[in-house]
Amino acid sequence: MTLKIGFHSDRYPEQTTLEKTESNTQSKAVKSLVQVHFPSRNMTLSYYNDMFDLHRGDIVYVDGKLEGHRGRVVDVSYCFKIKLSDYKRVIGRADTEANGSLYMADSHFVAFDRSVIPFEKVQSWFKAPNSSEEEYVIGGEGTAVFLDRLGEIDANPQIIERGEQYYFEDRVAYISVCSGQGRAIVEGTQPYEVDFEYNNGEVKSLVCDCFCAGICKHEIAVLLQLRETLRIIEESYNELYTQSDYFAAVSKGAFFAFAMSPNKRGSVTLG
Ligand SMILES: [Zn+2]
Repeated sequence: MTLKIGFHSDRYPEQTTLEKTESNTQSKAVKSLVQVHFPSRNMTLSYYNDMFDLHRGDIVYVDGKLEGHRGRVVDVSYCFKIKLSDYKRVIGRADTEANGSLYMADSHFVAFDRSVIPFEKVQSWFKAPNSSEEEYVIGGEGTAVFLDRLGEIDANPQIIERGEQYYFEDRVAYISVCSGQGRAIVEGTQPYEVDFEYNNGEVKSLVCDCFCAGICKHEIAVLLQLRETLRIIEESYNELYTQSDYFAAVSKGAFFAFAMSPNKRGSVTLG
């Protein structure tokens, strides 16, 4: 028996499903002064916001010395007068609204509909928006490996062991394969992105943005998670995967922390 979970979640408790329409999912910016708490530093600081319509509980990213750290809005003021040069700004907001059907796959939930948990949405849960000056270049072919021959990977045993540990700790927060193109997010000392190609049991062009030479622990964790998730899909959801040529899996921990965070209202349907 398979269990499917349908869900719907909104950022604002006051906004009901009926009021929500396609056109207002990207809400207009409302200037505000916000207090942001950064759990990683145990600090709460004030920031100016003119890019988003922020509410308590929203997950945001800022510029200044806490750039890259995830913060949570704990207070919002709309009436204020400030000297702009005294304030750093909010530069990104995590998109934690979600709708659709998820299927249970052990440590992860899996979607076969591209709109439920697209990479960009989940990426915003973990990472600040890329600053426009940064440019990345990928050289070489990356690593190629067969999922049923992971034991043959040529890597330092310590790296393999750390990668296995990451996999067992469900640190592969997200993994998706869309028409052969794979992407994953691994929670390490910071979030890392792993790109790969997947076809008929073979993974090619495996690249991680930790910029290690050779295979890294994040890539090992992704290979193990991919093998596990595909095994479950093949056993229980093969028809859905064949139809869509797409799957995306999110760890239950990440899903509950972001899409079902405490400031949410919405519904969960079991079926
Ligand atoms: Zn890596």
